[in-house]
Amino acid sequence: MAENFDVVVIGAGPGGFRAAKRCAQKGVQVAIIEKEFIGGTCLNWGCIPSKALLASAHTLLSAKHAAEIGIDVTSATPNWPKIQQRKDAIVAGFRKAMTATAQAHNIRVFTGRAIVKAPNKITVTNGSKADLQTKKIILATGSESIELANIPFDGQTVISSKEALSLPQIPKSMVIIGGGVIGSELACVYAAMGTKVTIVEALSRLLPMEDEWVSRLIEREFKKIGIDSITGAKVTSVDKTASPAKVVIENGQKLEAEKVLVSVGRRPTVDKETIEALNLKMNGSAIKVNERLETTVHGVYAIGDVVGTTFLAHGATTEADVAAANATGGDRKMSDYCLIPRVVFTFPEVASVGKSEETCKNEGIDATVGKGFFKGNGRSVAHNETTGQIQIVRDNSTNKILGVTIVGFIATEFVTLARLLIGLGPAELGRITYPHPTICETLEDAVKDAFSSS
Ligand code: FAD
Repeated sequence: MAENFDVVVIGAGPGGFRAAKRCAQKGVQVAIIEKEFIGGTCLNWGCIPSKALLASAHTLLSAKHAAEIGIDVTSATPNWPKIQQRKDAIVAGFRKAMTATAQAHNIRVFTGRAIVKAPNKITVTNGSKADLQTKKIILATGSESIELANIPFDGQTVISSKEALSLPQIPKSMVIIGGGVIGSELACVYAAMGTKVTIVEALSRLLPMEDEWVSRLIEREFKKIGIDSITGAKVTSVDKTASPAKVVIENGQKLEAEKVLVSVGRRPTVDKETIEALNLKMNGSAIKVNERLETTVHGVYAIGDVVGTTFLAHGATTEADVAAANATGGDRKMSDYCLIPRVVFTFPEVASVGKSEETCKNEGIDATVGKGFFKGNGRSVAHNETTGQIQIVRDNSTNKILGVTIVGFIATEFVTLARLLIGLGPAELGRITYPHPTICETLEDAVKDAFSSS
C-alpha cells in the first residue's frame, strides 16, 4: 500500500530541506527522500566542510603573521588529523541538528533512491521498495563535479572537490584545473597548509564570473600566499605512471603534482528514469522550470543546482521558498537572480550583488563607479587586514545603486548589507549611519564616492 503525502521532496540538500520545512510549516503532509546524507552537497561535501578547512587555514596564516601585530608565536603548524576531525565533527553536528529539525516539523524522512514514476507516484529503493503517492513533487537532486574526458577522476591522484576535502595527508604539491570558486577556495586551504599549489585556468583569469579588477587583485594576493596561477591555458594530459604525476599544459609547460584537483564546474543531476517517466523538458542537463519553478509537468517543481541557476546553497533555499509556496497553494515567482549575493571565501574574500561595472558596460547602462579602500579603513588597519576594495555602481539615469562588489576581509558577511543598498538613492542612503570604526565604513566611502558628483 502506498503512503500518501501532499508534497514529496526528493533530495535533502539545502534546497530540498528548506522546501520540506516550508511546506511542513504550512501544515501539509510532507516527505523528504535522500539517498545519501541529510544536508546534501552543501553540508557533507561543499559549503560547510570547505569553510571549516578554510577557517583552519585562515587561523594558520594569521598565526604566521601574528608577529606583525605584536604577538610572537613560536610555532604555527597544521595538525591535519585534528583539522579533519574538527571538520567531520562540524558536519556530523549539523546532520544531527537537521534530523532533529525534520522530526520537530513532522517531516517523514525516507532514506533511499527516489524515482518518479508519474506526477503523483514515487518509488523509494533502499534494499527494499516503498511506494509513495503525492499531490505535488519538488525535485532538488543537486549536482555533481564535471569530469574531464581526457583526465578522468580516479579518486586517488585525479580527484574532485569531494576527495579534496578529506585527503588523508597534506599533499606536497597540487595542480588545480579550474580557477572558479571551488578551485580557488581549495587553493587557499592547501597553500596555507604548505602545499605547492598551481591553478591552471583555461580562461584568461581566475574567478572569471567577476569583473577583471577582482581577478587581478585575487591573482596578486594568491601569489603572496604561494598560489601560482597559469591562465589562458588548458591541461592536456596527466601522466600518473610517474610519482608525483606529471601534468602537461598546452603551452608545453610540465608540472609535478601529488594531487590533481579537477574543478571545472558542476553538472545538474537528475535520474534518467525520472526524466523519462515525466517526459521532463531539459535545458541542457538542467531541468527546465518557469518563474514559479514549476517544471513542464504540472505539480512538479524543481529547485537548486538541478535547475542550473546559481549553483549556490542560498540560491537553492531562495528557490525552495518560492517552490514550497507554490506547491502549497501560493503563487510566487522568482525575482531578479542578480540580487542573490555571490560569495567566494578565498583569502581575501570576494562577494558581489546586483550589477557590476562590466555588466553595466555590456548592457549599455550609463553608470558611475564609487570606490572604497580597506587600506584607508580604521578597523581594517587595526586588524592588519588592509587588502581589498569595494566598488559600487550607480545608475546615472535613476541615481540609484545597481550593484556592489567587495574584495576583502569578511566581504561575504557584509555583502548582505550591500544587498540592502541596491535600489536606494541619495536621500535614503544619506540616512544610514555606519558605526565607527567598522569595516562597513568602506562601504560608506564607496557610496559617498559614487554620489560625489550628484
Ligand atoms: P545538493 O546539496 O546537491 O543536494 C541534493 C541531494 O539530493 C543530495 O544529497 C543527493 O544525494 C540527493 N539525491 C539526488 N538524487 C536523488 C534521488 N534520486 N533520490 C534521493 N536523493 C537524491 N554554495 C554556497 O552557497 N556557499 C558556499 O560556500 C559553497 N561552497 C561549496 C563548496 C564546495 C566544495 C562545493 C562542491 C559546493 C559549494 N557550494 C557552495 C554549492 C552548494 O553546495 C550547492 O549549491 C548546494 O548544495 C545545492 O543545493 P541543492 O539542494 O540544490 O543540492
